[in-house]
Amino acid sequence: MKKPFLLLTTAIVFTLFWFCTSKQAKMENRLKSFISSHEEKIVPLYKEMALTSWNANITGSDEDYAKSEKASFSYAKVFTDTERFKELSEIRDAAVVKDPILARQLELLYNSFLGGQVDTALIAEQIKMETEITKKYSNFRVSIRDKKLSDNEVEEILRNSVNSKELQAAWEGSKMIGPVVAEDIIKLVKHRNTIAKKLGFENYHEMSLKLSGQDPAEVTRIFDELDSLTRDNFTGLKGDIDSYYSKRYNLPSMDLKPWHYQNRYFQEAPEIYKVDFDKYFEKQDPVKLAAAYYDGIGLNVDAILAKSDLYEKPGKNQHAFCTDIDRAGDVRTLDNIKPDSYWMGTILHELGHGVYSYYNDMSLPFTLRDAAHAFTTEAIANMFGRLATDPQWMLNMGLIDSSENDKIAESSFLDLRLRMLVFSRWAQVMYRFEKSMYENPDQDLNNIWWDTVEKYQNLKKPEGRNMPDWATKIHIALYPCYYHNYLLGELLASQLYSYVTINIAKNQSFVGEKAVGDYFRDKIFKPGTRYYWNDMIEKATGEKLTAKYYAKQFVR
Ligand SMILES: [Zn+2]
Repeated sequence: MKKPFLLLTTAIVFTLFWFCTSKQAKMENRLKSFISSHEEKIVPLYKEMALTSWNANITGSDEDYAKSEKASFSYAKVFTDTERFKELSEIRDAAVVKDPILARQLELLYNSFLGGQVDTALIAEQIKMETEITKKYSNFRVSIRDKKLSDNEVEEILRNSVNSKELQAAWEGSKMIGPVVAEDIIKLVKHRNTIAKKLGFENYHEMSLKLSGQDPAEVTRIFDELDSLTRDNFTGLKGDIDSYYSKRYNLPSMDLKPWHYQNRYFQEAPEIYKVDFDKYFEKQDPVKLAAAYYDGIGLNVDAILAKSDLYEKPGKNQHAFCTDIDRAGDVRTLDNIKPDSYWMGTILHELGHGVYSYYNDMSLPFTLRDAAHAFTTEAIANMFGRLATDPQWMLNMGLIDSSENDKIAESSFLDLRLRMLVFSRWAQVMYRFEKSMYENPDQDLNNIWWDTVEKYQNLKKPEGRNMPDWATKIHIALYPCYYHNYLLGELLASQLYSYVTINIAKNQSFVGEKAVGDYFRDKIFKPGTRYYWNDMIEKATGEKLTAKYYAKQFVR
């Protein structure tokens, strides 16, 4: 009796196995052919988009900007194809693609196409709303006693004035954009939520994070961890900040108002520990220094610099960025370099992005030849960018001697710590407010904003204030659900820095240590986006992303 039964089950198992493998092979082949036709289309469009944008940023001409806009549109259009999305969905729903490289591409392509499946009328409406809000922001000028002031002029008053009345007028004046745009923003938030719901998400915040490969619960967990690790220390430092301001304005600490913190949002730290870093770079060439440094750690950047545009020119973008033109070695950075510490930090930062792209694994398929996440390349850039104000680096690079190092080491550290902690509390506000706003745009947002500011930044709401102050931060309206990545980048920068200083480098600034370059190339750059970002971090450091090392570095 037993035998035929066994034979039968074996036959069934065998058939099932055969069926599965053949289904797997069939789906994997379908995906392979999808990918090859996709690459045929997307590779030249990507390159065209990157090149035209590069040119527009250098010349600033309307004609070049028009070309760049057109190229971006053609690139984005690929992902709106409903037939192609259907094909991809069928392959995904079959859930039999097992090859890890194929499965990862499937996931990333699926997310990109899903994001492109919004009704074009809804997108057009969204762009129209965003354009209207953009205009309102750019036309707004702060009025103080019939005088119109630009944002820069307001920031200058807040930074330099010690007159409370003048500070209050500038701060309150800057918040008058709030009522002008608040209702428009709430409408836009609801519209974005409509789009998200149509694609099957709870709200736009959840959609933005998930489509970029982040789980909101995971991000919140990391932000909670960071909050609990920094809260006490920040409270202590906030006391130091308040005593500093109390002296500066000749006011009791308890009378300090949000306009006493030298910028509109208390997003930057005061210069309590003054170190004049600029003087060390006056006679230096930041490009040469950066090139020598990267070459010393085995990540030569000559090919990147040869294609870059490094100095000021009329019409050129006045900021800095790095771009990967073709994911095949054409990597460039745009800068406006001058011999000071700001540009030293900036070129180290941009070349950090640069080496991440340049030392990618060219044998990976196009879709995977990218950073694991936007914040992971930011982490590398931040980690190297921090060196410009690190006396240990300046010492090892021969910019200062050891007696100068002794003189400024402590203040430099205290200054960096203050900047980091102040920024981390501000980023908490942004992340939590945005999340809450998209979860329920009808709640009392004015109150939520101030509750969050009081909780995380320890600022006191001016008595009786009930204004849409949240609406004055342009990122909330126009660069939504991205701000948290700046902080995640800082956390990862600290985690990597800690790992490398403990396990690989012999000196704290890595000067001349080829093993450090090898580590970054093999563990971070080459994997590209083949692993989920938190898996990549775990493979590289033995732990998932954690706030521990940021706290270890900056909390005492
Ligand atoms: Zn950056």
